[in-house]
Amino acid sequence: MNKEELWQALLAQIQFNISPANFATWFKNTKISKKKGKEIVISVPNNFSKEWLENKYNKFILKTIKSLDKDVKLIKYEVSKSAPSIKINHSNDKKEKDQLKFEKFKTNKETNLNPRYTFENFVVGSFNELSHAAAQSICKKPGFNYNPFFIYGGVGLGKTHLIQAIGNEIKNRYPRKKIKYLSSEKFTSDVVNSIKNKSISKLKSEYKSYSLLIIDDIQFIAGKEKTQEEFFHIFNALYAENKQIVISSDRPPNAISSLEERLISRFEGGMITDISIPDIETRLAILRVKLQEKRADVGPNILEYIASNIKNNIRELEGALNQVIIYQKLNNCFIDEEKVKILLKKMVSPPYKKINSKKIIKIVSDFYGLKEGDLLCSSRKKEVVGPRQMAMYLLRKELKGSFPFIGRKFGGRDHTTAIYAVNKISKQIEEREDIKEELESIKKSIYKT
Ligand code: ADP
Ligand code: MG
Repeated sequence: MNKEELWQALLAQIQFNISPANFATWFKNTKISKKKGKEIVISVPNNFSKEWLENKYNKFILKTIKSLDKDVKLIKYEVSKSAPSIKINHSNDKKEKDQLKFEKFKTNKETNLNPRYTFENFVVGSFNELSHAAAQSICKKPGFNYNPFFIYGGVGLGKTHLIQAIGNEIKNRYPRKKIKYLSSEKFTSDVVNSIKNKSISKLKSEYKSYSLLIIDDIQFIAGKEKTQEEFFHIFNALYAENKQIVISSDRPPNAISSLEERLISRFEGGMITDISIPDIETRLAILRVKLQEKRADVGPNILEYIASNIKNNIRELEGALNQVIIYQKLNNCFIDEEKVKILLKKMVSPPYKKINSKKIIKIVSDFYGLKEGDLLCSSRKKEVVGPRQMAMYLLRKELKGSFPFIGRKFGGRDHTTAIYAVNKISKQIEEREDIKEELESIKKSIYKT
């Protein structure tokens, strides 16, 4: 990558991570002016930008550049008077419109919901339809249909989008209901602060006043006893009054280690659904929706390329699309297939393309000198159980398969068996050098062939 390409790739990623207004303010008229060995010099239009980038964005810029070019170790900023080589044209009406568009998407101060997450722009496929259906049904009669609603799945698969869509929809239907969306980390810090300020009862009554409480990424309260205790009381109070509770997590309740038994059983008392990985048609549909939202145009073959190569994470899918859009904007042309391959090289690593559960199971059984059928059958022999758990672990880690998916692949086992296997192997890898080595060799052969 030359320095222009590198900077374009970086801008594409940054744009995806900060607000358009910030992007326009801080990255307009910037470029890489020098690239020498480990060092990169970024030229910026004025001192103000220089300070801001150095102090606020340097870490992020460095990390992103390193992911694109691992040789870079140091970034310097200099104020340049000359015209930049890459112009981002933000000074026309269209920019105003774009900004207005994003103004609309400010987080609501009272509910903490972001209006950009709606059901209208949420694409439904077999990978998320159960979660989506439950979410919609909750909006019809909050507190009565599925309470609590617990949704889990890997990163970037739409949990936050869906649970916020519930919040936004209920706010529309019942404007007077008190709604709160927050992450479990924010909840934890609320609890910690109010203990410090001796205002815990005030906090509790605040939380108990919500008609709909949405907590994102609940797995982060694992091990935090005091937070769990307060949450338990708030939960019970809300539940008793038929107030709706919605929770997301990266794993099912019983797989969150050091989560209190009584909380697990509360969560299990409601509706639990998972979101897995979208198939290619759905990935294409998502790209089309995003393209409309962004009011951009990208060739169908390019969409096809992105959809067939980025499979495991919708956020990455969107990130790839953003990179393409900004590339086209900066170069004022449509991108072709050759260019898109270069642009997305980092996100698409070819060996990952061909692996699937069948292949993992075959390689694991070969490795341990077993037949594929041994791993799938019901045998509990020691020589079979260990390898089977290893294969389940790999399906989880390498394919990001959901636990029910993994269970199904192994002769219709229950998802708890898969959870148990993944936990067991994770623990063994930490404790036993031999298992760790086995894992590494298996992974090598998975990605080699
Ligand atoms: P998670 O919370 O599971 O990590 P997010 O809800 O943050 O994932 O989703 C990541 C990105 O993908 C968001 O920009 C979101 O709008 C988008 N996304 C996820 N699922 C869908 C979907 N089904 N349809 C449209 N966009 C989606
Ligand atoms: Mg999320």
